[in-house]
Amino acid sequence: MKTRAAVVYEHNEPVVVEELELEEPKSNEVLIRTGASGVCHSDLSVVTGAIYYNDAVALGHEGAGTIERVGDGVTDFCPGDRVILSFVTYCGTCRMCLMDKVCLCESYDVPRGFQLDGTYRLYNKSGKPIYQMARIATMSEYMVVPEQNLVKIAPHYPLEKAALVGCGVTTGVGAVLNTARVEPGSTVAVIGAGGVGLNVIQGAVLARAERIIAVDIAAKKLDLAKRFGATDVVNAGASDPIEAVREVTAGLGVDYAFEVIGNPKTIVQAYRMVRAAGTAVIVGMAHHEAEVSLPAQHLVSTERQLIGSFYGSCRPRVDMPKLLSLYEEGKLKLDELITRHYRLEQINEAFADMEAGENARGVIVFD
Ligand SMILES: [Zn+2]
Ligand SMILES: [Zn+2]
Repeated sequence: MKTRAAVVYEHNEPVVVEELELEEPKSNEVLIRTGASGVCHSDLSVVTGAIYYNDAVALGHEGAGTIERVGDGVTDFCPGDRVILSFVTYCGTCRMCLMDKVCLCESYDVPRGFQLDGTYRLYNKSGKPIYQMARIATMSEYMVVPEQNLVKIAPHYPLEKAALVGCGVTTGVGAVLNTARVEPGSTVAVIGAGGVGLNVIQGAVLARAERIIAVDIAAKKLDLAKRFGATDVVNAGASDPIEAVREVTAGLGVDYAFEVIGNPKTIVQAYRMVRAAGTAVIVGMAHHEAEVSLPAQHLVSTERQLIGSFYGSCRPRVDMPKLLSLYEEGKLKLDELITRHYRLEQINEAFADMEAGENARGVIVFD
């Protein structure tokens, strides 16, 4: 069958929106009609090569849709089911999965972009095979994906809201609640108030943090941060963010600092912002070759902790329906995250708006 998708052929060149041939689902795979796909910074990182695929790749890893057909052996899903796409494939039975670290599942030793049997489902007009980002590629009208990437949701949730839970919301809220387990009354700094950072902020609100200090260089994003629950804002373009955070916390530093940019400089800032025995949590996905340098003795003598958080340490089938329930109860902001809707053909405009800091989240909607 045919599908229109957003494809990266060359790093740092405009993304190509074109018609591709999509194969039918094989065993334990599912065909999905995409409802919506968020535009996340990690998509742009694939365009720049910071997240590296060694050949042409269809973009998108934050999406939701409706099942059209299922392959042999699929028993947990039926046509008509609404699903969020998880961007990790997990087995549920390996050592990491049994330790509740399903995002670090050890079972699938398949190179990035391929389906689990090591083959492709997408081909362009000249027959060239196309990878699927995160094995899903949500910036496509239709997707064939492993059933292990699916999270069934109640049918009444709007797909454009559910899509955001597929990456940004889960990554941000999960970093606070699952990875760091922030305690009530804590002080928290969040460096980077973009689509994921805003969700770290609302995660800190859910954790009942006492002070939530948002750090960014864009005044517009700091205004948004306040709407999502930041108690204090620091414009890092106007003042030293480490000093400013110390000032807010009576010279101590915060209990938790979250870095949501993926830049070695701001990762070090996060480390320096926390009090002794505090925790710096790195959420932002840095360039795959970037390295960080820290004062080694200080790390020991102050017992600071530096930890990574991938996909909010989530268990997709447990946490994503919970997040939608919180939305329904009015405890989680999803409507406010969506700044603008785009058609698939506007993907390059959506990236330009992201780089200009225009959007909390841009969302591509499909018919
Ligand atoms: Zn993402
Ligand atoms: Zn596993």
